[in-house]
Amino acid sequence: MSFPKQNDFIDIHTHGAVPSPGIFSVETLMAHEEKIPVETAGLAYTSGIHPWNLNDENHDRLLLYVEKIASYESVIAIGEAGFDKIKGPAMDLQQRTFEEQVYIAGKLRKPVVIHCVRAWEELISAHKKLKPATPWLIHGFRGKKELGMQLISKGMYLSFWFDFITRREATPLIQSLPVDRIFLETDGSGADIRNIYKKVSGDLGIGVDELKIQMLKNYTVFFNRNN
Ligand SMILES: [Zn+2]
Repeated sequence: MSFPKQNDFIDIHTHGAVPSPGIFSVETLMAHEEKIPVETAGLAYTSGIHPWNLNDENHDRLLLYVEKIASYESVIAIGEAGFDKIKGPAMDLQQRTFEEQVYIAGKLRKPVVIHCVRAWEELISAHKKLKPATPWLIHGFRGKKELGMQLISKGMYLSFWFDFITRREATPLIQSLPVDRIFLETDGSGADIRNIYKKVSGDLGIGVDELKIQMLKNYTVFFNRNN
């Protein structure tokens, strides 16, 4: 299994990653695409059912795919999975499918990467109900500090929306969250992860190298790779 190198920029959530020296990418395998992970230097994978691509008709097939792919060693987390009130099927199908994926994650002792749009109550109540055995990472976060801290207090980690994090308005949020609970991502947008690191290290008043060390530490803890 591939693991970030000491000096790598870690892109914790992306789509369509092309291996690039100095960048370690966590590539998302969307269940409906039914891709098979290929062991590649500089890449690790997550695999899950995105609510946008879920319906009553494909649910069983997608879940079978995730069950099969999730146990690959190069698949380090389940997801992206979660809830979307704007786009996606009925909430009860979303909830059931999310729970099924959290169950797989618990069985395999892998964390969950979460997509959540306007469904924070559903997410928090799922966390309360399921008492997950592994940590959750909210990707694409752009909410208020209070919401961020509420999620963090429940053991979750946050990775920020690529288009929000480089704005000036993101600075107070970055400065108010514990740095050991955050990650950075491009979400396959074509944004450059190096620029995101630069902006965030400026926000935090530390060097890019120091931020790299912190992100690698977070990675190690989140994916439980200490041993
Ligand atoms: Zn994504």
